[in-house]
Amino acid sequence: MVPLSRSRPLLAAALRLGGRRRLPRSRGSAAALLPPPGSGSAPAARPCSGGGVLRHLLLKLRATGPLTVAEYMREALTNPGQGYYARRGGVGRDFVTAPEVSQVLGELVGIWCLSEWMAAGRPAAFRLVELGPGTGALTDDILRVFNQLASLLSKCDVSVHLVEVSPKLSETQAQMLTGGKVQSNSEDEAAYMKGISKTGIPIYWYRGIQDVPQGYSFYLAHEFLDALPIHKFQRTEKGWREVLVDIDPEAPDQLRFVLSPSSTPATENFIQPEETRDHVEVCPEAGVLIQRLACRIEKDGGAALIADYGHDGTKTDTFRGFRNHKLHDVLKAPGTADLTADVDFSYLRKMAQGKIATLGPIKQREFLKNMGVDLRMQVLLQNSRDSATREQLLHSYDMLMNPKKMGDRFHFFALLPHYRLTHPHKERSLQSKSPLPPVAGFGELLLK
Ligand code: SAH
Repeated sequence: MVPLSRSRPLLAAALRLGGRRRLPRSRGSAAALLPPPGSGSAPAARPCSGGGVLRHLLLKLRATGPLTVAEYMREALTNPGQGYYARRGGVGRDFVTAPEVSQVLGELVGIWCLSEWMAAGRPAAFRLVELGPGTGALTDDILRVFNQLASLLSKCDVSVHLVEVSPKLSETQAQMLTGGKVQSNSEDEAAYMKGISKTGIPIYWYRGIQDVPQGYSFYLAHEFLDALPIHKFQRTEKGWREVLVDIDPEAPDQLRFVLSPSSTPATENFIQPEETRDHVEVCPEAGVLIQRLACRIEKDGGAALIADYGHDGTKTDTFRGFRNHKLHDVLKAPGTADLTADVDFSYLRKMAQGKIATLGPIKQREFLKNMGVDLRMQVLLQNSRDSATREQLLHSYDMLMNPKKMGDRFHFFALLPHYRLTHPHKERSLQSKSPLPPVAGFGELLLK
């Protein structure tokens, strides 16, 4: 393993590098709740009735009866023809995320990956895997850091693997990351598209994590898990019932929530006997994803960093719709609004089944503070020439760090191999002279 003292100053240098300043892609608000400050008006909506998904759902409901909320959410968000992400993919338009607010988020996540890579003894290759990359801003900012630290990575084979279900957003990502120079692959290949980043790194696109090749990897999921379908359950006098979506008998072209008349397979499988809440949301797709990541990280090493809004098994009804930066009725015009539910980190921890270690959730402002956000901001402020740029930088810092904005609402959660946190054998830990370096972000980034 390379002594830390030789590597860490490079990370410190990365925080101090001037680098290219990315222009803000949008100026928006935390978690899409507020319209962009000072704008007075949210971006205009394209006239869109959501007729496609609604028509399809009404036919389905008439034919087969009520749907689970998970089936409803899946159709509304990822129906290949008419789903929200397939058609509209509203990052910036309906909601704003941290990588869009500031380049600093991606830069610090890039440093986080490098810090973990160095702690693992600088493996000869690593994959950067991003799930649900939106516009591609996070990966773009990470790749800029990798490029600035090219000397550190000169002997490492780095590749990028993006899991994206939306054809529209994969085009946006291709434009951002490669300047649009991509090639579609034939159906029998795991990746549906490939290209080379502006900095010369190969990039591949996939429809699911199962298609991404295995090996030492960093898996990133920024505001991805909150878009995965949830089941909703209600405690009643007769026991747990599942919340379902059905046609409103009073208005046959509208939808309403109903309760299942009896228990369903989901109530049997997903409600824990010790549950104390009266209303519970469970996201089995997130559970399956965590199991897959846990198996991969246990076998090949690497880490996963999950950033999202969420809770530790305490909240109840968090299912929400957003359109044009405003709350939107989740059952109205499906396909035209983003649907989301808070991530239950306690469920993710449970689904890791002890195969790997978990860290967090830790508040975004604490994670970024530990990663050196203040030093990075100082450098960007010093290097900015005009007051408008400085104002914009201060505004984005406030958005990321203010407890009332993204600072306290968003959390970071990591999956790591057990050996990253504890030496596998007592004897080895006695022999080992150097203690394991702390995991940056969850403790302070060691720069010396
Ligand atoms: N990570 C980005 C975008 C978040 S929006 C950011 O923070 O800015 C959610 C992203 O996940 C979009 O890119 C959407 O198209 C993608 N997505 C949603 N459901 C998906 C699924 N089931 N499989 C793969 N990608 C999905």
